[in-house]
Amino acid sequence: MTPQANHHQPLSGHAASRRDFLAGAAGVSLAATLGARTAAANDEQVAQIAITFDLEMSRHYPQRGMTEWDYQKGNLNEETKRYSLEAAKRVRDRGGLIHFFCVGRVLEQENVDWLREIAEMGHPIGNHTYDHVNVWASEPDKVQFRFARSPWLVAGQSVEQIIRENIRITSAALQSRVKVKAAGFRTPGGSRTALNGREDLQRLLLDLGFSWVSSGYPPHQSSPPETPPTDEIFASIVDALPSAQPYRYPTGLVEVPMSPISDVGAFRTSRWKRADFLKSIRQCIQWCVSHHGVFDFLCHPSIMYVEDPGFEVVDHICDLVAADKDRAKLTTLDGIAARVSSGQ
Ligand SMILES: [Zn+2]
Repeated sequence: MTPQANHHQPLSGHAASRRDFLAGAAGVSLAATLGARTAAANDEQVAQIAITFDLEMSRHYPQRGMTEWDYQKGNLNEETKRYSLEAAKRVRDRGGLIHFFCVGRVLEQENVDWLREIAEMGHPIGNHTYDHVNVWASEPDKVQFRFARSPWLVAGQSVEQIIRENIRITSAALQSRVKVKAAGFRTPGGSRTALNGREDLQRLLLDLGFSWVSSGYPPHQSSPPETPPTDEIFASIVDALPSAQPYRYPTGLVEVPMSPISDVGAFRTSRWKRADFLKSIRQCIQWCVSHHGVFDFLCHPSIMYVEDPGFEVVDHICDLVAADKDRAKLTTLDGIAARVSSGQ
């Protein structure tokens, strides 16, 4: 039982159905078989581009110094919800999907119609834990700010118990309020080590019904705040992409790393201008197209409604894929994980 099954189809599924239909209609001739093989081989040559939105509030947004969100990551403001819904419509209109990851506490809000609407458009919604917990933490009070301030919430529980419960109830909340199965799992924060060597965490996720995780974020150079990125920094981001390609852990769990550079690194940490962010994304997608790679673009609508109110970033990604449609396609992390599982 995989939680991400059935509530949407990877975009590549349409091509497979069409091939099956044609093979059935014409009878299975050698030509049709060869054609299908060629199409499958071509599919493996296509760069997979995913747009992902993490649904949570972000410190220092919408104003610098705003850090109370650390304690209430799921208390989304209206602007964040509106931005998420509008982006979902724009990408759907271009024939793509956004892969959302939802912090469970979002689902305590009075109204979640906007998220239901997103789900009804076919966008997958994955699990991002209930309180945005740090799965790599070794002490209970390091798991999340909320538990450091209010330790009675997790009193007597081990780190493993806190993390397991935080993930389990998020899937339960998505099922209860949005009527969807959690479409995969993304760790709050990314790590250069991903879940390598953490068989305990890999097994915990498999046990909770997940077949893939998005937890890796590769190291790269970054510019000091307010300093425009140099060519060297742009190049170091592209050079990090080979370390951000999907793979399978020994336990069978698939890893789909986040690709650099995220909106957090570009805007919150380094205070980039939007044009530089667009340039870096363009360079990364070009690398993926040339290397048949995967680009797992990560952003947060709580940051993007401030930094990119006109949706230039998602539009640009859609434009780049459309301009190279024989060599690149928009997909979801389910689609990426499926290609790893099929023996890529
Ligand atoms: Zn997050």
